[in-house]
Amino acid sequence: MSSPSSSRLRIVRGDITKLPVAAIVNAANSSLLGGGGVDGAIHRAAGPQLLAECQRIRARQGGCKTGEAVITTGGQLPAAHVIHTVGPVWNGGHKGEPELLANCYRNSLRLALEHQLPSVAFPGISTGIYGYPKGEAAVIAVREAQQWLASHEYPHEIVLVAFDAETQQLYEQQIA
Ligand code: ADP
Repeated sequence: MSSPSSSRLRIVRGDITKLPVAAIVNAANSSLLGGGGVDGAIHRAAGPQLLAECQRIRARQGGCKTGEAVITTGGQLPAAHVIHTVGPVWNGGHKGEPELLANCYRNSLRLALEHQLPSVAFPGISTGIYGYPKGEAAVIAVREAQQWLASHEYPHEIVLVAFDAETQQLYEQQIA
């Protein structure tokens, strides 16, 4: 029997590349070839093996569509795996952005379930360069995490990583 879903969701402030979880999620772009923000930080910390694995996935399936997710190993990261998902670019909110962002969380969590990963940490997907309003993104992140935990055994724990104080506060408000 798994523990109640409330104790399985954690908010952590800091750098996602340092977390010793089974998988960290990367806010990638559809090329899977790396970029700025958290994507750049993850590739730098993981080392060249990560790009090589992403290139193999690209050769096989031609990148990753918005809302979808793929999994690689973690290279030199403390996390054994990286789940790469492509968030929507914010375009005013009426171009399917909320559903696409929810899909990022669901498809990443589905990969964690398929690989029976005990713990997964998410950055604020789309809330940097892609311009998704942080408050609206926090509502979706917390809702999707809670809904998943209520009906799935894996991952046992979901960590929402806040890179700044504002995001931390937004997550904590949603959970309260
Ligand atoms: P996107 O292109 O999906 O918007 P970004 O990488 O620009 O992705 O930003 C996504 C979120 O990740 C932002 O809220 C940003 O503050 C945060 N972020 C950037 N670097 C890190 C890091 N090392 N650890 C955790 N979060 C990070």
